[in-house]
Amino acid sequence: VLQVEGLVKQYGGRPVLRGIDLAVAEHEVVALIGASGSGKSTLLRCIDLLEEIDDGRILLDGVDVSDPRAATRRRRNRPGGAVAAQKSMAIVFQAFNLFPHMTALENVALAPRVVHGLAAGAADERALELLSRVGLADLADAHPDRLSGGQQQRVAIARALAVQPRLLLLDEITSALDPELVGEVLAIVRDVARSGATILMATHEMGFAKQVADRVCFLDGGVLLEEGPPEQVLGEPREERTRQFLARII
Ligand code: ATP
Ligand code: MG
Repeated sequence: VLQVEGLVKQYGGRPVLRGIDLAVAEHEVVALIGASGSGKSTLLRCIDLLEEIDDGRILLDGVDVSDPRAATRRRRNRPGGAVAAQKSMAIVFQAFNLFPHMTALENVALAPRVVHGLAAGAADERALELLSRVGLADLADAHPDRLSGGQQQRVAIARALAVQPRLLLLDEITSALDPELVGEVLAIVRDVARSGATILMATHEMGFAKQVADRVCFLDGGVLLEEGPPEQVLGEPREERTRQFLARII
């Protein structure tokens, strides 16, 4: 589904991603781990074409989506429009960023309406289905400020799924949550993963990565230092840097 080749990203001349090669296959769940500042969010933002890249390519289903012309076209179309409909990626961030003036249902129904051009009735129907899937059908008419952080993230996941993305990008979606709310959000992600979604997720939750991910990638200073099955990378890392990182966080 996704191929990243030689991706380089700099901020003000300082390299933050130093030539990343990464592929994610259909139905695969890949966890990105690494210290704060190692470049996880930047990598996800580059893949979602929210950032210009300095070198390399990003292929989605074999199509070079990092082509500057395609990127410009897409930006112009955000958040709706025909190009966005083909983008086939959706991202959920650490901080809840639902539209505050819209209900949960309206937040989820927006993209199907604007991007997929569904009629309001059909979009609402799809939104309600997705809200049921994340266990929030009865809160469909609530505004975000009436929802807990965990509920808001569940709505954000439903909203991401509403565009039926080929690739779901998740950036530490539980790290702004109170500990008791983390479980309900991870349960949804586990469910979405089991349903066959293709997911690339940055996470600090090593236990969760071990359970759900097919592969774990360790990012260190903008370099993809080590990758492999969770048991190997988290259990018997090859690299000393990976070992040090894991020792620090556990
Ligand atoms: P965390 O675990 O804290 O979320 P991260 O692995 O997601 O960290 P990034 O947010 O990708 O790390 O940041 C990587 C580096 O890029 C950091 O050194 C950060 O300061 C820098 N950086 C990120 N965004 C910008 C920006 N918009 N302008 C300048 N520097 C940035
Ligand atoms: Mg980050």
